[in-house]
Amino acid sequence: MSDFDVIVIGSGAGGGTLVRHLAPSGKRVLLLERGEWLPREPQNWQAHDVFVENRYVSEDTWYDERSKAFQPQVHYCVGGATKLYGAALYRLREEDFGELRHHDGISPAWPISYAEMEPYYTLAEQRYEVHGARGEDPTEPPASAAYPFPAVSHEPRIQQLSDDLEAAGLRPFHAPCGVRLLEDDMPHGHCVRCATCDGFPCLVHAKSDADVLGVRPALEHANVTLMTNAEAVRLETNADGSAVTGVVVDHSGERETFTGDLVVVSCGAANSAKLLLASATDAHPAGLANASGQVGRNYMFHNSQAVLALSKEENPTVFQKTLGLNDFYFGAKEFDYPLGNIQMVGKSSAEMYRGEKPLQTRLAPERTLDQVARHAVDFWLSTEDLPRSENRVTLRDDGAVQLGYTPSNELPKQRLLHELKSLLGHLGMHHDHLIPRHAYLKNDIPVAGCAHQAGTCRFGADPTASVLNTDCRAHEVDNLYVVDTSFFPSIGAVNPALTAMANALRVGDHLLERMGAARTEREPEHVA
Ligand SMILES: Cc1cc2nc3c(=O)[nH]c(=O)nc-3n(C[C@H](O)[C@H](O)[C@H](O)COP(=O)(O)OP(=O)(O)OC[C@H]3O[C@@H](n4cnc5c(N)ncnc54)[C@H](O)[C@@H]3O)c2cc1C
Ligand code: SF4
Repeated sequence: MSDFDVIVIGSGAGGGTLVRHLAPSGKRVLLLERGEWLPREPQNWQAHDVFVENRYVSEDTWYDERSKAFQPQVHYCVGGATKLYGAALYRLREEDFGELRHHDGISPAWPISYAEMEPYYTLAEQRYEVHGARGEDPTEPPASAAYPFPAVSHEPRIQQLSDDLEAAGLRPFHAPCGVRLLEDDMPHGHCVRCATCDGFPCLVHAKSDADVLGVRPALEHANVTLMTNAEAVRLETNADGSAVTGVVVDHSGERETFTGDLVVVSCGAANSAKLLLASATDAHPAGLANASGQVGRNYMFHNSQAVLALSKEENPTVFQKTLGLNDFYFGAKEFDYPLGNIQMVGKSSAEMYRGEKPLQTRLAPERTLDQVARHAVDFWLSTEDLPRSENRVTLRDDGAVQLGYTPSNELPKQRLLHELKSLLGHLGMHHDHLIPRHAYLKNDIPVAGCAHQAGTCRFGADPTASVLNTDCRAHEVDNLYVVDTSFFPSIGAVNPALTAMANALRVGDHLLERMGAARTEREPEHVA
């Protein structure tokens, strides 16, 4: 008999969500996490520690295609990247599930429809306590339920921005936020609505992350075991390679092997590819489940830009990430291709700017960094990057990740920036300043900013062109699944976490059915 019914490797958006879903079934679940619990300490909310010292970024070294070493923006801890994320929890657009023609080529269709994912988006919004308002975003896909919590209100400068955008003929909306905030009953909520959210861990555990709302509730069930400091280094298989028979783990420096009837990989897109590639055998010479040659390929991470505009009036906003703009998602005047999403990022501070050359050379000393911060309005622009076979994760001889990546859709990315720039005059901002923000992007080496990584084990109906089937099971290995963002065949232009969470719930229902376990009770909706 196996040690466990299910072994889940990685506790982030995919793994953490899945384990919570499986927990009430009573099945024996082992959750392996290479990191530790993220420490709760004052530094959680210190910009210098988080943005300048990179206190919570892994010490891993990856290599770009020219073999230049870099420190990737990945987070090894319980909850994975969601501990640091901005908790903007968007659904993909319905059209993102179909084929979309972009400036640089085709964004391929998904093998399942939006309608199949919809109930799981609704459940994921409930599990992650998402705040939002239906009916405002012109590109919003159909939803079977209201958001469980009302939209987070705009602070006055952002409300003004919203009003100005509307006056310019656009349709700004309240961004979907995963913060556990009760605005009309602050003493009983968890969130204190602070300025250190996006990119920071939440000191008071009020962010809807996969630690607080995935792993912790799962661990209330005695049948779930979490092992931290446990890095899966190899998957062993039977002789013909049709099933995983053991998960080899580096547990605090000791090698241990665990057996599970089902094995679910959820290490983040690059690390899941790494694990499969490192598990090559005679039956799988190119890497486990890689007869298609697709493991590691089609790596995407959004063509993103973080920029700062200067408001003529001061911008005293504390929690800034409340507004989104999708008017250019599918195109713009005289530009018939998708451009992408515009949203706010966390309010920047002078401390974050230290060491950022463009700010120092273009704005200071003409303005002090404190003056810049007082007037800064911070935007995040995402353009979809296309899945390209040559954009891929490979392993070096020493086993380290090598990432080859050539951007796509550069012109739509520039065009999206141009659209925002041309609006600044209507928005009470200095029209000549839209300054790139390096601290958010970590883009001294562009591939290092891999926060939105996806696509290395895409799912599909055709085993020669995809790694996983539509249940996210490896085509070639009967008991092996992948539930992190690796499965994305395309990435859309909105943030990826809610889609990973929804899909983990979808795959979770499949696993429960496969194990003959009852489906998890749905929580009552907290419709506001
Ligand atoms: C600063 C920042 C801001 C972001 N903001 C947003 C946002 O606002 N909205 C949004 O939708 N998305 C956001 N994202 C992206 C989002 O966090 C990710 O898309 C999401 O967490 C991906 O989920 P995942 O399960 O694929 O990987 P992760 O959440 O990264 O989880 C992978 C887990 O696997 C563990 N692991 C890796 N290798 C192994 C191994 N070999 N053995 C055991 N464990 C292993 C890791 O330690 C980690 O815990 C942000 C990310 C960052 C970094
Ligand atoms: S805004 Fe709320 S959820 Fe975000 S870090 Fe502050 S208290 Fe935590």
